[in-house]
Amino acid sequence: MTDRIEFEGVEGLRVGRFGGSITSTCIVYRIGRTAIDTGPPNQWHRVRQFLHERNTDTVLITHHHEDHSGNGARLQRDLTATVFMPSNGVDLVRNGFPLRLYQRVVWGTPNTFTPKAVPDELALSDGYRLRPIASPGHSPDMTCYLAVDRGWLFTGDAYIASQPKFFRADENVVQQIETLHALLEHEFDTVFCAHRGVVRKGRDALRQKADYLTTLREEVRRRHDRGESVTAITRHVLGREPIMSALTGFHFSKRNLIRACLPQTESTRTCTSP
Ligand SMILES: [Zn+2]
Repeated sequence: MTDRIEFEGVEGLRVGRFGGSITSTCIVYRIGRTAIDTGPPNQWHRVRQFLHERNTDTVLITHHHEDHSGNGARLQRDLTATVFMPSNGVDLVRNGFPLRLYQRVVWGTPNTFTPKAVPDELALSDGYRLRPIASPGHSPDMTCYLAVDRGWLFTGDAYIASQPKFFRADENVVQQIETLHALLEHEFDTVFCAHRGVVRKGRDALRQKADYLTTLREEVRRRHDRGESVTAITRHVLGREPIMSALTGFHFSKRNLIRACLPQTESTRTCTSP
């Protein structure tokens, strides 16, 4: 896995304390002087150097999770950048949000800051136009950024994998399916995922994920109707939980994805930060 990414003028830097896997590393993208996401707090030294190279003056955050918003405060202070984020995420990074021990270990602890709410469209100094698209499901404030006329979609954590096997405890599968279909209404080819990297056949990838989640949800419901427990369904459909799930206290686990597919989960669940 290479640290540096370059595709048609979009550059990216993959950072992470525990390198080597998609989920323990995260990518900060930049187009000209604009950055998309800020990386985790414990990678500030690398993020700062990367964004300083192009005198980054504008930052768009996709959602409040610490590996995406984690250096917002420092970018405002040290690079005097204007930092935007989805309006429903502003209070979360201004007031702070709870983090589990594993999140502090893997990504570090962010400082609070006050970003601006992102406008309906941003005309960048380099001639690009970026349009935010509300994409709830991974988190309530998850927002993708469409580079109008370029065919690029910056998806934050709305994609990650065509066939995900793990969910955070607060993810909403129905919203994710709706979001993926809504994104496919827009014109784009290439997806820039904050963990997977550049996905050239981005439309196909998003469609595959929507189909997979739809099929998975149906199978989970069928098994649930037959009286199978969450544990049994998880083992049958997704296999055993790895050690990693236990290390997160099952906050990031296979059973969360199965639970998210159950009807009562949808009706009682509130999709909030951890
Ligand atoms: Zn996230």
